[in-house]
Amino acid sequence: MPRIIIAKTAGFCWGVSRAIDLVMKAAEAGNTPIYTDGALIHNPQVLSLLESSDIHVSSNIESIDHGTIAIRAHGITPQRRQLLKSKGLKIVDATCPHVGGIQAIVKQHATKGYTIIIIGETGHPEVIGLMGFTQGRGFLIDKDEDLDNLPPLDGEKICIVAQSTQSRSRLYEVTERIRSLYPQAIVFDTLCDVTSDRQNEVLEMTKQVDLMIVVGGKNSGNTQRMAELSRKAGVTTYHIETEEELTAEMLQGHEVIGLTAGASTPDWMIKRVQARLQELLPQPVSV
Ligand code: SF4
Repeated sequence: MPRIIIAKTAGFCWGVSRAIDLVMKAAEAGNTPIYTDGALIHNPQVLSLLESSDIHVSSNIESIDHGTIAIRAHGITPQRRQLLKSKGLKIVDATCPHVGGIQAIVKQHATKGYTIIIIGETGHPEVIGLMGFTQGRGFLIDKDEDLDNLPPLDGEKICIVAQSTQSRSRLYEVTERIRSLYPQAIVFDTLCDVTSDRQNEVLEMTKQVDLMIVVGGKNSGNTQRMAELSRKAGVTTYHIETEEELTAEMLQGHEVIGLTAGASTPDWMIKRVQARLQELLPQPVSV
């Protein structure tokens, strides 16, 4: 009998729930239209629901001259915050407190003269925000080549942080390489537990399942990494956004199916995927 194992950690993280609550409350209080400075979360289905509450994604917040502006969970640079404030519009700050904590570490150490090394993804909004606190002394390590391109930092004070959704193995690997060159570097484990808990659960699940379905926005970094971990563990893995992407062929020959989801995937979407799995699998199905 086919079996579905659903991850306990699947679905919205507290930072995303909080961001959505904050903008929804602002909308309910009549502060509409609300323009979010980029996509509030990496989930197109949730974004289209927010649209119906007069909450819109703006890719050009500089041009907004009415309504309310919302800062998303990823946070922004202090320079951008200043620019938004100068508009004189109402601002809903949905920066995740965990990300706010990383910004504080970067700011504090940059002020003390540290060179800041950020382990993260090029172009990720959280990384862009963090870079803004480095006072021009920040370096991003995304690919391994970035390590080779670091300027000589002998004798410099160095502070290493990571984008909250990086994997712990990546943090350790890069940190070790930097410390072999610069043992004076201090390291802050800035990974969000929400992310590591999900990643650990994915790894645990790969020992029990022969197919993994990871639900979440295709552009969601944390969802992509969960799928990547599962693939690396040798399990056939599909990263889908909605139940409509599932086909009977994808499930053929698989007995134990893992179902998990990124931090920006709502519960209702996980339930829809579960229902679709139950429809497509040979009956009966145990969950
Ligand atoms: S994954 Fe963690 S850091 Fe990112 S928004 Fe959620 S709670 Fe905040």
